[in-house]
Amino acid sequence: MKIVGINAYQVDLPLHEGSYKWSGGKSVEVFDSTLVEVLTDAGISGWGEVCPLGPFYLPAYGPGARTGIALLGPRLLGEDPRELSRLNSLMDAALKGHPYVKSALDMACWDILGKATGLPVCALLGGRFGDSVELYRAISQEPPAKMAARVAGYRAEGYRKFQLKVGGDPDEDIARIRAARAKLAPGDVLVADANTGWLMHQAARVVRAVRDVDVYIEQPCLTLDECLAIRRRTDHPFVLDEIVDSLEALLRAHALGAMDVVNLKISKLGGLTRARQIRDLCVTLGIAMTIEDSWGGDVTTAAIAHLAHSTPAELRFSATDFNSYVTLSTAAGAPQRRNGRMAASDQPGLGIRPRREVLGKPLITIGRALSARPVAKARAKPSASRSRRR
Ligand code: MG
Repeated sequence: MKIVGINAYQVDLPLHEGSYKWSGGKSVEVFDSTLVEVLTDAGISGWGEVCPLGPFYLPAYGPGARTGIALLGPRLLGEDPRELSRLNSLMDAALKGHPYVKSALDMACWDILGKATGLPVCALLGGRFGDSVELYRAISQEPPAKMAARVAGYRAEGYRKFQLKVGGDPDEDIARIRAARAKLAPGDVLVADANTGWLMHQAARVVRAVRDVDVYIEQPCLTLDECLAIRRRTDHPFVLDEIVDSLEALLRAHALGAMDVVNLKISKLGGLTRARQIRDLCVTLGIAMTIEDSWGGDVTTAAIAHLAHSTPAELRFSATDFNSYVTLSTAAGAPQRRNGRMAASDQPGLGIRPRREVLGKPLITIGRALSARPVAKARAKPSASRSRRR
């Protein structure tokens, strides 16, 4: 099987809540997402998605993803999409860094591997643990009372884990944490995620002021050294996210005892291949994980579900259903949240069928400009000889 073409589509993903706000006054109203379609000479195509959290969260942005895909795509033509380690080596040789660019291509090739073998990606990543995956809900940064009301509202929808966006004014953040926790029951999980937004003196004030509150502290400051300094002066459970962007970063943080939970974002790590490697190491080391991505729609949510569902339940702290935050559905078959949980599809590959009417025309076409129709439709009309044209 050989890759014969790659299409990249740009999709705007608006939000049900209108905007998403986090530390430092950062805010996004419409997410710039890129969907990638990898076409093969076997008539199988695979899909991936990369959607940065705006251009100012991680070193990643929407047009950068597409520029990188246009650069890497031609290098993958003629390669076997099922040979994922080899593909990742080729991508690394052709483009240093830029893991988020490689993520969508890697994800699409996992989709192809699943379709080629008749197995869901979840099975290929290690097997299914449990019936479903527990989700967390991120609570956009607002005044304390509004955030607490959102927590109560999403709790009524079935969520039991909440991630408050703090990292603002420390006194207001203290009020946010207290107001949100007051809406929760014992057993519910509250995480205060500062997204690197506090200086050390601010983080120190907040963790001291909420010492009596049952709350996890996530990525309080910008660097590992700063986070470690705060961790050493608090007894709250500690989550690291932004600074754990590679296997080396994970190993260093683990060796220093810098975290209790780590957030694995697929595109931050470079795709499902690299995320699985780090996930498996975390399982061995006993580090609990939140399985997620920076943002995304149906395709990203499907990939998260497969990686999360193939993670042992006791090490699965939570996962994210981004497709329930956005107003646009880009694919059928993606996981749908039920009672605060979701499950990976049991269909081959990622189990999604992109809605071409939503995607429009590709912004980038590399190699043979095929596709335009879903594979299922093409199969229904063998006389159209689509496979022969490939
Ligand atoms: Mg985080």
